[in-house]
Amino acid sequence: MQFSFATGLRGIICVAYNPIRMASGTTIAASVARSPIRDILDRALAGARLTEADTIALIECPEADLGDLLDAAAQLRDRGKGRDVTYSRKVFLPVTNLCRDRCTYCTFRKDPGDPGAWTMMPDEISTWSKRGAELGCKEALMCLGDKPEVAFKEYRETLNQLGVRSTIEYVGRACELAIDEGLLPHTNAGLMTRDEMAMLRPLNASMGLMLENVSPRLRASGGVHQWAPDKEPRLRIKMTEEAGALKIPFTSGILIGIGENIVERAESLLAIRDIHERHGHIQEVIIQNFRAKPEIPMANAPEPDEIDMARTLATARLLLGAKMNVQAPPNLSPNQIELFLHAGINDWGGISPLSKDYVNPESPWPHLERLAERCDRSGFRLRERLAIYPEYISDEWLDPAIAPRVRAMQARVSGG
Ligand code: SF4
Repeated sequence: MQFSFATGLRGIICVAYNPIRMASGTTIAASVARSPIRDILDRALAGARLTEADTIALIECPEADLGDLLDAAAQLRDRGKGRDVTYSRKVFLPVTNLCRDRCTYCTFRKDPGDPGAWTMMPDEISTWSKRGAELGCKEALMCLGDKPEVAFKEYRETLNQLGVRSTIEYVGRACELAIDEGLLPHTNAGLMTRDEMAMLRPLNASMGLMLENVSPRLRASGGVHQWAPDKEPRLRIKMTEEAGALKIPFTSGILIGIGENIVERAESLLAIRDIHERHGHIQEVIIQNFRAKPEIPMANAPEPDEIDMARTLATARLLLGAKMNVQAPPNLSPNQIELFLHAGINDWGGISPLSKDYVNPESPWPHLERLAERCDRSGFRLRERLAIYPEYISDEWLDPAIAPRVRAMQARVSGG
């Protein structure tokens, strides 16, 4: 369903004190309850640091206040980001879809021998990167399963034949190949150690790891991450902290609709804010909605609706502030472009003219011209960005080995 303000979701403006003149000419003070949501929004717009209770209240915002919530988030976004909304032109390189974890919402992962099981060979990585560069891509997204060498002997033999000792070492090779073809890698390889991230830093413009959710409950029996040791929240928080200590521009985010409750969703956003306050390295926060697919154990689980997404996006904006880049994947909610812009986002993430979204293969990327038109009609200009946001293009955040390529490519993007 496409969101429309014609459906009457504009909030009711409440005032604290409302003088009413009586027919007799006397004035009485009629107190009209001020919406608690309005108080939170005013504090957020004044720069206050929101509490957990505030965050929960915003995520649960009643329908009567939804219009005010979205307006406030949009106002804060406009202050920090103006009316430019960005995307990264990328090629998605699924280096390997073998994975030792089994998240119950995932269709990406495979076991060796499964139909579609695939580890990209170096010539495939080069060919895809070259083709992507020819189509104007700037980013090579290295997206892959977690630690397959721990689970699969066949895959260990593949790594051996490739002359590397680990998946992450192979990702380093893949990054070199993509750089040789003129792309800037962004690695999202699941959990990595501090040493692995340090090894990849000279070969990446940025890196990422979705926090997904901080609740240990989702790892318990029956939870979506019961069979996914790499989704241990404590380890994902640790890696995100270490990326900050290493001065790596970093992508984080939450996945909504995976069995978390509202408190857990709020705590996850707060965890990202707290880590960012310590290190300043979270370059963007993705709010990703769960999509049901027939082949997964969660095939019949309810998907978050567009209002739930909009409330969470607006809450993220108000919690994380005017300067944060807040992103929603456009291919997972193709009818909600206008609503999500109104909810305070300023980025659509990576969009590929070449490769599909291997994590959500049933959801095609939007056509860029069409997306630009819809942004334009809503009062926004769609602009290309690199895998690293402009505010991180500095000696502080870039390894000297990749900095010249990033700066040269930024000149192309900003001049274009
Ligand atoms: S979501 Fe990632 S970690 Fe989980 S099973 Fe899929 S590929 Fe593996």
